[in-house]
Amino acid sequence: MNEPQNGQRLSGQVAIVTGASRGIGRAVALALAAEGAKVVVNYASSSAAAEAVVAEIGAMGSEAIGFQADVSQPDQVEALLSATIAQWSRVDVLVNNAGITRDTLLLRMKLEDWQAVIDLNLTGVFLCTKAVSKVMLKQRSGRMINIASVSGQMGNPGQANYSAAKAGVIGFTKTVAKELASRGITVNAVAPGFIVTDMTHDVQTEELLKYIPLGRYGQPEEVAGLVRFLAADPAAAYITGQVMNIDGGMVMA
Ligand code: NAP
Repeated sequence: MNEPQNGQRLSGQVAIVTGASRGIGRAVALALAAEGAKVVVNYASSSAAAEAVVAEIGAMGSEAIGFQADVSQPDQVEALLSATIAQWSRVDVLVNNAGITRDTLLLRMKLEDWQAVIDLNLTGVFLCTKAVSKVMLKQRSGRMINIASVSGQMGNPGQANYSAAKAGVIGFTKTVAKELASRGITVNAVAPGFIVTDMTHDVQTEELLKYIPLGRYGQPEEVAGLVRFLAADPAAAYITGQVMNIDGGMVMA
C-alpha cells in the first residue's frame, strides 16, 4: 500500500485547533499545517497573535483562517463550526487545547475561580466535541485529541479546579472514544507535564525540576509532535481512548 509521505498525510483535511494563538495550540496548528492540513486557528482575544499564526501557515504553503470564539460558550462554538463548514465543508481533526488556570489553594478558591476553569477546560471540550462529532459521524472518520494534564492524574496543590477539569477530560475522552469508535473516529488525550508557555511562565523554578526525571521543561513543539502523530500517522488509527503522557517522566503508570 502506498502511504502518503510525512508532510502530506493531512493533505485535503481540515483541522480545528482551539486556543491556537499561543503556546501549545500555536505549535499544534503549525505542526498540522506542516502535514498539509487546512487549519482553523481559534483564539479568545489575541487576534494579532492568531493572525500571525495564520500568516505563518500561509507562508508554509498551507491554508488557515483565524476565528475568535470563547469555546466555553455554546453559541460561539456553533459559530466556530459553522465558519469551518462554510469555508471547507468538513472537519477531520479536532484538537481541544484551549485552557486556563486560576490557581489558588482550596480554602481561598472562589466559586468564580472554580467555575471559570471548569467552564473552559471541561465544558468547552464537551461543547466542541459534541458539535464536531456530528460532522465526523457523517464522514465516518475523524481524529480528536484532547489536551489534558499531569495535574489531572496526580493532583497539584493550588489546582483543585484545574486538576478536576483535566481528570474530567480524561474520563470524557474514554467515554467518547467508546461511543464513536464504531464510526471510525478516534479520541485520545495527551497529558503534558511542564511545558514552556505563558501559562507556566510564573511557576518555572529550579525546585520543580527535581520532580521531572528528564530534568528540564518541555517545549510546545514536543507536545505538537505527539498530537501530529495521533492526528496524521496511519499507525495511530488503531489507538483510541488512551492518555499519552509527555512530561519528561513525571507520571509513570
Ligand atoms: P497558553 O499559552 O496560556 O495559551 C492558551 C490558549 O488558549 C491561547 O491561545 C488563548 O487564546 C486560548 N484561550 C483562552 N481562553 C479561551 C477561550 N475561552 N476560548 C478559546 N480559546 C481560549 O496555554 P498553554 O500552556 O499553551 O496551554 C494549552 C493547553 O495545554 C491548555 O489546555 C493547558 O491546560 C494544557 N497544558 C499546558 C501545560 C503547560 O505546562 N503549559 C501543561 C499541561 C497541560 P488568547 O491568546 O486569545 O487568550
